[in-house]
Amino acid sequence: MAVFPLVILIFVLVMFAGVIIVGGWLVLSVFRFFTRVLFGPNHNRVIPRHEFEARRSSIQCTRPQCRTVNAAHARFCRRCGESLAARDEYPRSVA
Ligand SMILES: [Zn+2]
Repeated sequence: MAVFPLVILIFVLVMFAGVIIVGGWLVLSVFRFFTRVLFGPNHNRVIPRHEFEARRSSIQCTRPQCRTVNAAHARFCRRCGESLAARDEYPRSVA
Protein backbone atom coordinates (compact mmCIF):
# COMPACT_ATOMS: atom_id res chain seq x y z
CA MET A 1 0.00 0.00 0.00
CA ALA A 2 2.94 2.33 0.70
CA VAL A 3 4.37 1.82 -2.81
CA PHE A 4 2.35 4.55 -4.51
CA PRO A 5 3.53 7.49 -2.33
CA LEU A 6 7.10 6.19 -2.68
CA VAL A 7 6.81 6.35 -6.48
CA ILE A 8 5.50 9.90 -6.22
CA LEU A 9 8.36 10.82 -3.87
CA ILE A 10 10.96 9.40 -6.29
CA PHE A 11 9.24 11.18 -9.19
CA VAL A 12 9.29 14.49 -7.30
CA LEU A 13 12.96 13.98 -6.38
CA VAL A 14 13.88 13.27 -10.00
CA MET A 15 11.96 16.35 -11.14
CA PHE A 16 13.65 18.40 -8.43
CA ALA A 17 17.10 17.21 -9.53
CA GLY A 18 16.24 18.07 -13.14
CA VAL A 19 15.09 21.54 -12.16
CA ILE A 20 18.30 22.11 -10.19
CA ILE A 21 20.48 20.97 -13.11
CA VAL A 22 18.58 23.01 -15.71
CA GLY A 23 18.31 25.98 -13.34
CA GLY A 24 22.04 25.85 -12.62
CA TRP A 25 22.79 25.73 -16.32
CA LEU A 26 20.40 28.65 -16.88
CA VAL A 27 22.01 30.73 -14.12
CA LEU A 28 25.45 29.91 -15.52
CA SER A 29 24.49 30.99 -19.06
CA VAL A 30 22.86 34.18 -17.75
CA PHE A 31 25.98 34.90 -15.69
CA ARG A 32 28.15 34.29 -18.75
CA PHE A 33 25.93 36.59 -20.79
CA PHE A 34 26.23 39.39 -18.22
CA THR A 35 30.01 39.06 -17.94
CA ARG A 36 30.18 39.33 -21.73
CA VAL A 37 28.00 42.46 -21.63
CA LEU A 38 29.96 44.02 -18.77
CA PHE A 39 33.50 43.16 -19.86
CA GLY A 40 33.05 43.19 -23.62
CA PRO A 41 32.95 40.39 -26.19
CA ASN A 42 36.69 39.73 -25.93
CA HIS A 43 36.57 38.88 -22.23
CA ASN A 44 36.04 35.18 -22.79
CA ARG A 45 38.43 34.98 -25.74
CA VAL A 46 41.48 34.43 -23.59
CA ILE A 47 43.96 32.08 -25.21
CA PRO A 48 43.91 28.69 -23.46
CA ARG A 49 47.02 28.02 -21.41
CA HIS A 50 48.08 24.96 -23.41
CA GLU A 51 47.74 26.95 -26.64
CA PHE A 52 49.74 29.81 -25.15
CA GLU A 53 52.49 27.40 -24.10
CA ALA A 54 52.44 25.81 -27.54
CA ARG A 55 52.81 29.19 -29.24
CA ARG A 56 55.64 30.25 -26.97
CA SER A 57 57.56 27.04 -27.55
CA SER A 58 57.00 26.98 -31.28
CA ILE A 59 58.21 28.74 -34.39
CA GLN A 60 56.18 29.41 -37.48
CA CYS A 61 57.56 28.78 -40.93
CA THR A 62 58.64 32.04 -42.58
CA ARG A 63 57.55 30.93 -46.05
CA PRO A 64 54.18 32.64 -46.75
CA GLN A 65 52.75 29.64 -48.62
CA CYS A 66 53.57 27.28 -45.73
CA ARG A 67 53.15 28.93 -42.31
CA THR A 68 53.50 25.57 -40.59
CA VAL A 69 54.03 25.74 -36.84
CA ASN A 70 57.16 23.85 -35.87
CA ALA A 71 58.80 23.13 -32.53
CA ALA A 72 60.94 25.99 -31.19
CA HIS A 73 64.11 23.90 -31.40
CA ALA A 74 63.43 22.89 -35.00
CA ARG A 75 66.03 24.09 -37.48
CA PHE A 76 64.03 23.26 -40.59
CA CYS A 77 60.31 23.35 -41.35
CA ARG A 78 58.80 19.89 -41.01
CA ARG A 79 56.55 20.49 -44.01
CA CYS A 80 58.53 22.37 -46.65
CA GLY A 81 62.08 22.04 -45.29
CA GLU A 82 62.64 25.81 -45.08
CA SER A 83 65.49 26.73 -42.76
CA LEU A 84 64.00 28.29 -39.62
CA ALA A 85 67.03 29.03 -37.45
CA ALA A 86 69.09 30.73 -40.14
CA ARG A 87 66.36 33.20 -40.98
CA ASP A 88 65.82 34.00 -37.31
CA GLU A 89 69.48 34.56 -36.54
CA TYR A 90 70.44 36.40 -39.72
CA PRO A 91 67.29 38.04 -41.06
CA ARG A 92 68.96 40.89 -42.96
CA SER A 93 72.49 39.68 -43.59
CA VAL A 94 71.47 37.96 -46.87
CA ALA A 95 70.63 41.19 -48.69
ZN1 LIG B 1 57.42 25.60 -44.11
